[in-house]
Amino acid sequence: MSIQKLETSAIIIGAGPAGAGTSFFLSKYGIPHVVIEKDVFPRDKVCGDACSGKTALVINRANPEWLTEILEDEQSFTPSWGIKFVAPNGKNLDIPFTANRTNETKAPGFTVPRLVFDNFLFQKMPSPYCAIFQDAKVNDINSDAGLVTVNMTHNGTDYLVTAPVIIGADGDKSMVRKKYLNENTAPKTYAVGLRAYYEGVTELHQDNFIELHFLPEVLPGYLWIFPLPNGMANVGVGILSEVIREKKINLREQMLSAIKNNPQIAPRFANAKLTDKIQGWGLPLAMERQPLSGNNFMLTGDAACLIDPFSGEGIGNALYSGMIAAAAIQQAREQNDYSAAFLKAAYDDVVYKRLGDELKISATLQRLCKYRWLFNFVVNKAYKSQSLRDTISCMFTDMDLREQLSKPSFYLKILMNK
Ligand SMILES: Cc1cc2nc3c(=O)[nH]c(=O)nc-3n(C[C@H](O)[C@H](O)[C@H](O)COP(=O)(O)OP(=O)(O)OC[C@H]3O[C@@H](n4cnc5c(N)ncnc54)[C@H](O)[C@@H]3O)c2cc1C
Repeated sequence: MSIQKLETSAIIIGAGPAGAGTSFFLSKYGIPHVVIEKDVFPRDKVCGDACSGKTALVINRANPEWLTEILEDEQSFTPSWGIKFVAPNGKNLDIPFTANRTNETKAPGFTVPRLVFDNFLFQKMPSPYCAIFQDAKVNDINSDAGLVTVNMTHNGTDYLVTAPVIIGADGDKSMVRKKYLNENTAPKTYAVGLRAYYEGVTELHQDNFIELHFLPEVLPGYLWIFPLPNGMANVGVGILSEVIREKKINLREQMLSAIKNNPQIAPRFANAKLTDKIQGWGLPLAMERQPLSGNNFMLTGDAACLIDPFSGEGIGNALYSGMIAAAAIQQAREQNDYSAAFLKAAYDDVVYKRLGDELKISATLQRLCKYRWLFNFVVNKAYKSQSLRDTISCMFTDMDLREQLSKPSFYLKILMNK
């Protein structure tokens, strides 16, 4: 059987948010590339389906019209204006994402089933610079003499695709990561999440606040209830794998038990119906800095373990890392240098310069979350204090302020009522 040979400037494995983000910006730079995806779109991805301001920011940079399309299509995308924290003691705290909302303010975040969202991104990918192969099987990846060759099969035809750089955007179980990074030098910190779709959950916030319930039994994880279009809700639970192992937790039983028995949650599910089977997936968390690239390769999104360790947000970071990867490829092309040293400076260092502080703070917050009393204490105080609620609200946009949360002085000031 004959083998088709393709030469291009970059090969992206995976067409989720990380792959789409990389592809959008490569196309903007006019850089030819090949995208290889194993599934067929629209395809599902187990997720909480909540997209933050960072997702909106990258889409807006790729093409402002796409963001307008999203914000105007409330049948598919539910605008979200804030977050409800429920402390282990059951106290609620509603925190808007924007402190000073006007009629002109656009919703900072939105929720959308990944089946819809990833397909939206996928449909935006075609360009004169992008060749897409979906339903394709990667058989092998090899590096030789500064070039990467991917052996793949598509529609019964074998291909050898060659480029100076490969981008692993192939998610949590990334084969690009396995091929190029020794897991012993870059161990993963994992959380596990379950997702269930329900219809008929009551008392959802009128401004579609996403809800995080820090139930004592799942700390430092949480149960979430995220409103979706058409009266649906994404309900799930996420928790560190080591805690599951240590406490021998059955996550599915725990989630269903909270839905059935928790005095705050159960009444809201009295007439709710599970519409799909409950599914689980891993969340590779960004607990500490890891290598993201090497000679002729880069990792993006979940393949790079870039999920926020506190919020579990990974879509925004996947798109964002894709955007930075494309900029790094443009520089590498100009210099004709795809070495580990060059990519580390152009990619890893830029990712950590832009996202590193935020991820570090989130890692600290995640560690603090296991202290139930501390959580209860902050929520109790904020419940009574508008100014503390405003401060926490500003923390969604102001990183310097958010950093306060990881310092003992912040809690001391609350204690002293300052
Ligand atoms: C339970 C749960 C809840 C979550 N909730 C949220 C949330 O509410 N908000 C949020 O922002 N994040 C959330 N996340 C994280 C988010 O889902 C991920 O961070 C995000 O999907 C990462 O995008 P990605 O493009 O890196 O990977 P993926 O979305 O996994 O995409 C990878 C793509 O690569 C393809 N692929 C894989 N292997 C190959 C291969 N060998 N060859 C070709 N293609 C391949 C896959 O088919 C897929 O299309 C959640 C995760 C879980 C598990």
